[in-house]
Amino acid sequence: MPTYFNPSSVHIPSVDLPSFFFDTVKNKTVFGRKPEIPFLISEQRTLSFAEFETFTYGLASGLSNNAGPEVRRLTLAAQMVGAAVCTANPLYTAHEIAHQIKLTDAKDEAINIAGSSIPDSLIFTLDGANSVFDILSDKSYPRVYLQTDDGVKNTVAFIVFSSGTSGFPKGVMLSHRNIVANILQMIGFEKADKVQTRRFAEIEEARMFSESCPSSTFTDWCASCTTSFALDAFCQNVQRYRCRTAHLVPPIILGLTKSPITAKYDLSSFIFVNSGSAPLTKELQQEAQKVLGFPMCHGYGLTEASPGICRPYIDDVVYGSSGRLVPNMQVKVIDSDGREVGPGKSGELCFAGPNIMMGYLNNPAATAETIDADGYLRTGDIGHVDNKGNIFITDRKKELIKYKGFQIAPAELEGLLLDHPAILDAAVIGVYADAQETEVPKGFVVLRPGTNTSGIVDEIHKWVNKRAIQYKKLRGGIEVVDAIPKSATGKILRRVLKERESQKSKQM
Ligand code: AMP
Repeated sequence: MPTYFNPSSVHIPSVDLPSFFFDTVKNKTVFGRKPEIPFLISEQRTLSFAEFETFTYGLASGLSNNAGPEVRRLTLAAQMVGAAVCTANPLYTAHEIAHQIKLTDAKDEAINIAGSSIPDSLIFTLDGANSVFDILSDKSYPRVYLQTDDGVKNTVAFIVFSSGTSGFPKGVMLSHRNIVANILQMIGFEKADKVQTRRFAEIEEARMFSESCPSSTFTDWCASCTTSFALDAFCQNVQRYRCRTAHLVPPIILGLTKSPITAKYDLSSFIFVNSGSAPLTKELQQEAQKVLGFPMCHGYGLTEASPGICRPYIDDVVYGSSGRLVPNMQVKVIDSDGREVGPGKSGELCFAGPNIMMGYLNNPAATAETIDADGYLRTGDIGHVDNKGNIFITDRKKELIKYKGFQIAPAELEGLLLDHPAILDAAVIGVYADAQETEVPKGFVVLRPGTNTSGIVDEIHKWVNKRAIQYKKLRGGIEVVDAIPKSATGKILRRVLKERESQKSKQM
């Protein structure tokens, strides 16, 4: 029995993602996208929808006619030739890319990254040598995609990496059905909200191609692609394009609310702004709404749910809540024994719906731990649901750390630390950096006896920074300790470390 469910539902057709996208955009049946709205803007260029369509078809045609199956690349075009798209952050280090390549078994493309290099002929770039533009073909692409219900449910469209409730990042398999469903669920929610929006997603370039949210590329968002976020440039874009809403992360909400830059621009086109990906304090949510003068919504989702689960109605924002379920979704709240606790009571939030992932790639054990026999996804997030169906996320039971919306798996950083010759044992937890409205990772290390401790902390920081992408830096610091608290079975007791940290911050 669900604790709560959304009684409205949207029809989800049995159609693959590229067909769904191009047919519905062209016929304006779902998105109502106006051709003059740019599809993508970046520092280098602006892409219209027509250009995007020509490019995608040309690329799909080029991939299938000329280049062979090993170069399946670039989202819709790749999916048109039957490939799953595995996203990676362009700033990843070799170490991180190697993990993804090994897990996805992308051996034809990448041939044992640890030992030999990938042949140049198999690497295509967006510009410069061996550009994807070189293989564009104007031959028409035969539109024979997935046509059966089984096909759309069982064919992987995306593999996106997430650490789930514990351990190293795992490949989340999202089917064509998952993505089509989540787009329609989000749109169904907005129709009920009667908002006609021109959305604007400000996403750092790195995040855009790597993190969850593949569905954002396919709705009527205009995505702004930047190499790093700058509040000034963001406000300029909002003013210039008269954006009616934006989907942002809590540290950006903090900047918008507190920075004097905001007042220099006309942001009056905004109807509302949505925050997501990480907790937003009730206080900041209230202050932002007061200072900025438009509803400050806060939504919730996760990679394993393709990703959208809930959002508030803009005329009924409940501070501190992450909103209500999108259509076709059910939630149940369970205690540590898996028993449902009922409305108003706190427990682990579990969700069911057509957007819940197929499972983790090559990892049936983790899949079975995460999706229960009734098809509910165990999120590792703690919260409750009130009688009206407002969902409150109050804590996180899982190990995951979120830095400005980016996922950091403690296990991955612990692995890196343990590779350091002076480190005997290590643990990593998330600590809250109030001034930045985000968590940051903090490392605890036990040094090998006899280690020269002078300058060792700096040396360990350098070691990590060389091997991990910049957002995984141990910004919360590194503390040398005598022992890492562990359970009888050897599991790191992160709660103990977290409690120690919160005691320390109370004393300060
Ligand atoms: P990701 O899979 O990278 O999107 O991360 C999903 C996780 O981010 C969730 O399981 C939560 O722990 C956290 N998260 C996302 N949205 C919220 C929210 N509204 N409030 C609190 N935590 C959130």
